[in-house]
Amino acid sequence: MKTIFDKGMDLSEVEVVRHYTALSRRNFGVDLGFYPLGSCTMKYNPKVCEDTARLDGFTGIHPLQPAKTVQGAMQLMYKLEKMLCEITGFARFSLQPAAGAQGELTGIMIMRAHFQEKGEQREKILVPDSAHGTNPASVSLCGFQAVELKSDSEGNVDLADLREKMDEKIAGIMITNPNTLGLFDTNIEKVCEIVHSKGGLVYGDGANMNAMLGICRPRELGIDIMHLNLHKTFSTPHGGGGPGSGPVGVVEELVDFLPVPLIEKNGENYEFNSKGKKSIGKVRSFYGNFGVMVKAFTYIKALGAVGLREVAEVAVLNANYLKEKLKPHYKLAFDRVCQHEFVLSDEGLANGVTTNDVAKRLLDYGVHPPTVYFPLIVKGAIMIEPTETETRETLNNFVDIMITIKQEAEKQPELVKEAPHSMPVKRLDAVKAAREPNLRWKE
Ligand SMILES: *Cc1c(COP(=O)(O)O)cnc(C)c1O
Repeated sequence: MKTIFDKGMDLSEVEVVRHYTALSRRNFGVDLGFYPLGSCTMKYNPKVCEDTARLDGFTGIHPLQPAKTVQGAMQLMYKLEKMLCEITGFARFSLQPAAGAQGELTGIMIMRAHFQEKGEQREKILVPDSAHGTNPASVSLCGFQAVELKSDSEGNVDLADLREKMDEKIAGIMITNPNTLGLFDTNIEKVCEIVHSKGGLVYGDGANMNAMLGICRPRELGIDIMHLNLHKTFSTPHGGGGPGSGPVGVVEELVDFLPVPLIEKNGENYEFNSKGKKSIGKVRSFYGNFGVMVKAFTYIKALGAVGLREVAEVAVLNANYLKEKLKPHYKLAFDRVCQHEFVLSDEGLANGVTTNDVAKRLLDYGVHPPTVYFPLIVKGAIMIEPTETETRETLNNFVDIMITIKQEAEKQPELVKEAPHSMPVKRLDAVKAAREPNLRWKE
C-alpha cells in the first residue's frame, strides 16, 4: 500500500478526506434539512432500505448469472411486481425503466404498438397544460405530436376543451393525477370515458402516487398505462441524477406489449420469460436498477398496507396544514383542498420581490427551496410538497420563515433580493453557467 511518504503520490489520504468532506458540507440533502421540493417527493428515506440493498446476496450477483443461481433476486422482483399490481390495480408491471421519464417513453411505445396492431393511424396525444415537461417530451420522442389541453378554473382538465379535441386521430391522453398543481382532478373518470369513447388510451403519470397509496387504485379510475417513480414514492434518495426506477403497469389487454423479460413463477421456480412476440423489446439493459427495487420492496414490506395508506394520509394532511397556515400571507393559486402539494404565487409580494428571491432567501434559513416557476400556468409558482416524513415542528418553523421573508420583502427588500448571504456561492448567473460551465474546484 502506498503511503503519503511515497514519492509520486499526489495527495495524502487526509487531503482527500478533507476535500470530500468539505464538498459534502457544501451540499444540501434531506438528511440535513427540510426539502419541500414540489413534484419530487423528497421524503426521508429510511436507512433500513440502504441496509437491505447492500446485503452481500444482492450486491454480489451478476445479471448474466443463470436464473437458477439468482432465485432470491428474481423472487424479490416477482413479489415487488405483484405488490405494485395490488397497489395500483394493474394486471402486470415491467420493472425495467430506469426513471419516470423512461417509464413514460415505454408507455407511449406501448400505445404506439397497440395502434399499429389495430392498423389505426393516430398521430397525436393530448397533454394538459399543467403537465410535467417530460410528458410532451416523451410524446414527441416517440413520434407523436403533443396537443395541449386547457385547465379549467378549478385546476382540472377542461372537459369542453377535451370533448372538442378528442377524436379518432388522437391516440390518447397523458394525465397526472393528482396533477402538478397538487389537485385531485375530480373530472378524471369523465376524462377517461371521453378518451375511451373514441378508442383512445389513457396514460397516467404516476409520479404523484404518494397521495393515493392505499386510498385509490389508478386502474379503477380508468387509467390504462402508468409509471410509478419508485425513487419518489417508495423511497430511494434521488435528486443527484440517479439511480431511479420507473416501472410501467398496464391493463390486461396491453400486457403482451410490455418490455421483456418478465419474471414468471413456475412451480417453486422463478423464470425469465422473453417470449412475448408483441413486446416492444428491451428498454434498458438487463432488468433495470435492481438496487432501487430492493429499497422499494423493503419500504413496502416494512410499512404494510396500513402503513402505506398512512403515508398518503399524512402527506396530504401535512400539505393542507402548510397551505392553510401560509394562505393568509401568500397568494394561493387554487383555494381548495389539496393532495400532497400545493402552489403559491409571488403575486402581491412587496417591492417587486419575486419567487426566485424568496427561494434564494430560504437557503439562508437552512431550507431547500420549493420547486419554482412550475407549473407554468401559475405566475411565479412556488410549489410546496412537505411529504409525510416531517414533524409539525418542522412545518411550523417553515411557516415562520416564510412569514419572515414576506416581512423582509416589505421592510428590507435588499436582504431578500440579494440573498443568499450565507452560502458558499451567491447568486449565480444561470445563463452564463449553462453556456460557459466552469467545473474547476479552485481557480
Ligand atoms: C418526477 C416527475 C416525472 C419524471 O420522473 P423522473 O423519474 O425524474 O424521470 C414525470 N412527471 C412528474 C409529474 C414528475 O413529478
